[in-house]
Amino acid sequence: MSRVQQCADSPLRVVIVGGGTAGLMTAAALTALAGRTCAVTLIEAADIPIIGVGEATLPHLRAFVARLGIDETAFMAATSATFKLGIRFSGFGARDSDYFHPFGDYGPDFGRAEFHHYWLRRHAAGDAAPLGDYGIADMAAAANRFARPEDMQWSGEHDTAGLPYGYAYQFDATRFAPFLRDWTCARGAQRREAQVTRVVRSSENGRVLALEIADGQRVSGDLFIDCSGFRAILRDEDLWEDWSHWLPCDRAVAVPCTAAGATIEPYTRAKAMDAGGWRWRIPLQHRVGNGYVYPSAFVGDDHAQDTLLAALEGAPLADPRVLRFRAGRQRRAWAHNVVAIGLAAGFLEPLESTSIHLVQAAITHLIEHFPDAQGCDADRDGFNRAMDAEHDRIRDFLILHYHATIRDDAPFWTHVRTMAVPDTLAATLELWRETAQVARYGFGLFKPPSWVAVLIGQGMIPRRWDQRADAAPADMLARELAGLRASIADRVAALPNHSATLARVAASSA
Ligand code: FAD
Repeated sequence: MSRVQQCADSPLRVVIVGGGTAGLMTAAALTALAGRTCAVTLIEAADIPIIGVGEATLPHLRAFVARLGIDETAFMAATSATFKLGIRFSGFGARDSDYFHPFGDYGPDFGRAEFHHYWLRRHAAGDAAPLGDYGIADMAAAANRFARPEDMQWSGEHDTAGLPYGYAYQFDATRFAPFLRDWTCARGAQRREAQVTRVVRSSENGRVLALEIADGQRVSGDLFIDCSGFRAILRDEDLWEDWSHWLPCDRAVAVPCTAAGATIEPYTRAKAMDAGGWRWRIPLQHRVGNGYVYPSAFVGDDHAQDTLLAALEGAPLADPRVLRFRAGRQRRAWAHNVVAIGLAAGFLEPLESTSIHLVQAAITHLIEHFPDAQGCDADRDGFNRAMDAEHDRIRDFLILHYHATIRDDAPFWTHVRTMAVPDTLAATLELWRETAQVARYGFGLFKPPSWVAVLIGQGMIPRRWDQRADAAPADMLARELAGLRASIADRVAALPNHSATLARVAASSA
């Protein structure tokens, strides 16, 4: 029985402030999963716009959509979504380097060591085949092909080329929140369109009693969720942990453009920029999303904007929009009876599309630690510990992309290459360099294949590999891997073109 079901006798009055992606995902999840055990009220200010540039997601969002019982086809039609097999990174290791971070595994473990150890052995012997040749998501992205794994007949087979891969969505974030709003309100959530002007707290224990909205009315509740974005209006203490010395990008300029007949690639592109920072390209059904994420200490606003506009492949569909942020998080995201979710709880930066995932993770941990009306310190502490771990792990993975560069062609790249990194990341790098191992953790992003993709993709080749990969004779291993490459290539050739799959999905919704 879930924690949410346990409190069925005393429905909790949950008040969510904010109608952005975080507020609507939280409202939808609580409405769907908590049912009549909690009454959800959503307050959103119509005149304070949402950030709404989050266009690239991670595979976990599929589970979120499915768990709500939302039909994938309807969701994709409403948000003009495309499929995403991963991210292609250019220029992050060496200036001319290129690699793919796929949602999927590389090769089989042959019953012994993880696949990358065999690859390292072949690499040391002079085999030039890149690691990506051994992953279906990687090869399919390169060929611009896509099918859902469950739609392919070979899905679930256990021969060596039947490797698992996943997918996520690239979508129009400005359409996601309204889609969820309609869905949530149709299922009983109350919505107030108003600005919160005052937070009424108990002088005894700091708990929030009610929120005053613009017309002077009060909305009272038991649990308050702060999804008010960077404003974090329910916060009563500033416990900001600043990470900008590790993640110096603090601005982004974003502009969508027409697709102009461009290929709708089933992946996001992230291109490291010479002056510093990186540029994203996210193809949707109806347009292409573009942005330049940059460190203001190294790159001027005008340079960023001019560079982005010059790189557009189609006509701009809006004026460029500059967004400012600071990498870091609020410690104690849950304090008293207020839980901060989304940008109100922190933001790292858009690289690796983790922010909407962190919203989802916070919702999951909140449901696991769902309180009763009195509240319980153990629930709060459990939630805070889990969210701290989620943030720390993502932080280290993002820093890796900058730090594991060999670039010295600009002050920004020299800075990130030579900067001190968190102890946890330093330990991860030491383990990798010496043993080619990546430690696993019980929950949270990212799993070892993701680390391996970035480490090897950015040219960080470890000193040795797992000795178990030496068990097979060299010629047999060479034959196995060549056969595996051919088999993966055959499977990928059988996949339909990404646009054809999108058209089929769209036709099924018509
Ligand atoms: P917001 O979207 O800012 O929403 C805040 C809400 O609070 C609004 O509805 C506003 O009206 C309301 N509000 C504020 N004050 C009040 C008040 N006083 N009273 C009532 N209501 C109030 N994430 C990804 O996963 N993938 C990406 O590719 C990605 N790219 C990004 C690129 C950039 C440049 C940035 C800055 C972020 C990106 N993100 C991405 C993050 C993603 O956009 C956010 O995590 C997501 O949109 C959640 O935002 P939010 O709902 O917390 O805040």
